[in-house]
Amino acid sequence: MEKSVAVPDSRLVGRLQRAVIFLGPPGAGKGTQAQELARKYGVPHLSTGDMLRENIALGNALGEQAKPLMARGELVPDSIILKMVAKRIERPDCSFGFVFDGFPRTVAQAQWLGELLRQHGLKQPVVVHFVIDPALLMRRITGRRMCKTGGDIYNIYDRPPKVPGICDTDGGELVQRPDDREEIVAPRLEAYAKMTAPLAAYYRRLGRLEDVDAAQSVEQVSKRVLEIVSKAQ
Ligand code: AMP
Repeated sequence: MEKSVAVPDSRLVGRLQRAVIFLGPPGAGKGTQAQELARKYGVPHLSTGDMLRENIALGNALGEQAKPLMARGELVPDSIILKMVAKRIERPDCSFGFVFDGFPRTVAQAQWLGELLRQHGLKQPVVVHFVIDPALLMRRITGRRMCKTGGDIYNIYDRPPKVPGICDTDGGELVQRPDDREEIVAPRLEAYAKMTAPLAAYYRRLGRLEDVDAAQSVEQVSKRVLEIVSKAQ
């Protein structure tokens, strides 16, 4: 399947003005969609997983703390995550809004985010909730490959690059994340069920949650996501 590389849409750039949250289990396709939405609106795609992996690659103290937890598929403590997110959204590129991917992951993180957005005078988030049959997830996760340079996401089964192992966008090497190996996926799905699934109920109560059938094609999901986000403008 041809990978559609989203470019900023001049009608959308500067118009988001809020946080969009992608919520759903690992492998549901949040990363791909978050990246695409962020490009269309010309805002940053803030993946806490990517930020942690960057810190690990840098070998700094934060990375050292996060590394063993991530390798076991466990959540990294809120104290680390919240500091990292607060620092990131202070940067000027976040002033027209931003797209979160993999954050918040606990109700405590969501409550903290709500407060932070209020302090920054930003509207409360739109939450896009990816609903998917757990049986599909394993294929999605174990087939996932990520570009080492630009972070673009592929799937060797459903969304392969034109040349195996090479990113269509920037020619970077495609690699499998260590925690996408089959044996690490089960604890990650467990952590999701225990810590993150309750978030859907939390945002539903607040009237912020919009469900998306994540078993559909990337193009169909992308259309639905854009509908949800533009309706909220
Ligand atoms: P992801 O790339 O979103 O699948 O995240 C990979 C791993 O990073 C997770 O399995 C967690 O160990 C850690 N992580 C990422 N985001 C968070 C978060 N918001 N809270 C706690 N841990 C996180």
